[in-house]
Amino acid sequence: MNAEAGSWIKCYLGLGSNLANDLGSPTEHLQQALSALRQYKQIRKVEVSSFYSSAPMGPQDQADFVNAVAGLETTLAPLELLDVCQQLEQGAKRARLRHWGERSLDVDILLYGQQQVSEPSLIVPHVGLSERNFVLVPLRELAPELMILQQSISDYPLSVDWTALQRLDEPKLRLDDSE
Ligand code: AMP
Repeated sequence: MNAEAGSWIKCYLGLGSNLANDLGSPTEHLQQALSALRQYKQIRKVEVSSFYSSAPMGPQDQADFVNAVAGLETTLAPLELLDVCQQLEQGAKRARLRHWGERSLDVDILLYGQQQVSEPSLIVPHVGLSERNFVLVPLRELAPELMILQQSISDYPLSVDWTALQRLDEPKLRLDDSE
């Protein structure tokens, strides 16, 4: 499908990194991935949330993550967009060291229009979307009116497990500000 023939679908990607390598720091991995996304002719209107730092979900003996959400329009089919996500990860020389462990770049498809995808290699909406503050907070920032399968994003409760999420260059965000 090419950009002329296809219809443009609004999608959201989640990006995360907590491992520097010879290609850059976690923040630079995200910036490079965003630049690379803008090079695809089947992708347009790439916008990005603030960058956030968040405590790791898996093993705790690893660095905090830098997370962001990107919005874009694409004529790529869902599995083609997954290929792009994996190309971006490979572009950051991603190596899987351990499950839920450190990675130079993770790129997930959060939403593909209002479509549900259930393939062996792709589940959309992303299974972790509704439970992860580091996804919901930047997604709300980017698209406060977003509908996710007929439900407003503003109705998605933020996780009670509010592991420190910090908008970079901003004061810490907390549900309970008493700490
Ligand atoms: P991860 O460890 O987060 O990089 O996930 C690895 C695998 O998740 C990939 O090989 C994908 O096939 C699969 N996957 C399933 N659903 C998604 C999604 N919505 N976005 C990205 N990867 C997905």
